Amino acid sequence: MTKRVVLVTGGGRGIGEAVSVAFGKNSDIVVVNYLSNEKRAREVVAKIKEADGEAIALKADVSRHDEAFRMVDEIVEKYGRLDVLVNNAGMAKGGLLMLLNEKDWDSVINANLKGVFNCCKAAVRQMIAQKKGIIINVSSLSGITGLAGQSDYSAAKGGVIAFTKAIAKELAQFGILVNAVAPGVIDTEMLSDVPEAIRKKFMEMIPLKRFGKPEEVAGIVKFLASPEASYITGEAIVVSGGLP
Ligand code: NAP
Repeated sequence: MTKRVVLVTGGGRGIGEAVSVAFGKNSDIVVVNYLSNEKRAREVVAKIKEADGEAIALKADVSRHDEAFRMVDEIVEKYGRLDVLVNNAGMAKGGLLMLLNEKDWDSVINANLKGVFNCCKAAVRQMIAQKKGIIINVSSLSGITGLAGQSDYSAAKGGVIAFTKAIAKELAQFGILVNAVAPGVIDTEMLSDVPEAIRKKFMEMIPLKRFGKPEEVAGIVKFLASPEASYITGEAIVVSGGLP
């Protein structure tokens, strides 16, 4: 059987690392995309290879249209196909509305929302030709509920869900499934910037009384790319330990 080729954006750490490793253990070929952290991406590649998997690291800034297209072109040139795209790359800055400046707003929207558009558009050219493909976009619970102090991030992640639903309708006719996952609070480096008092407040609000593990998001991403999920498209699955 031909191995699937899976691109995980921001695959070098946090949720992206767990997703990359999950696909690597599944005998898929994993392309671990990174922006600034080549060392971490290479470590993930090494981890997958140690488990007899196949992986490469590939640098690209997903917020740049040309770089997203160059990355997908390189993958198709090397492997001849692209089966699964996981749009995981993202970042948060935060700040109350009155303190948000235009530059920060643009960088958050560009990394989290425009990056998803760029990679989807680049990947879909190949997926339409294959008449098959799976796209999974990593949104956030804040894109559904809105998070005070992160209106930029909430807007971008809400946009990711609406974009997912719209393109799922457009691409179903080509055999392409598009879904999103919306994690709550997951224990990664992204969380380390959050002040302790706010972390504590989140913890109290989570019915399961703990933060999620990156692997618990990766499991849902892997499921959405599995044959068991062949009749699911245009959905956003919340992974939040019950956090409303
Ligand atoms: P993280 O540990 O901060 O990792 C973010 C990853 O995104 C890094 O690998 C980074 O690459 C990459 N990245 C950022 N901007 C990029 C760009 N322009 N181009 C390419 N790669 C870029 O974050 P995480 O917690 O694992 O988050 C992963 C995803 O889950 C994000 O979309 C995030 O918004 C979402 N999420 C996280 C949580 C949470 O509680 N942690 C909750 C909901 C949703 P480099 O390291 O190479 O710079």
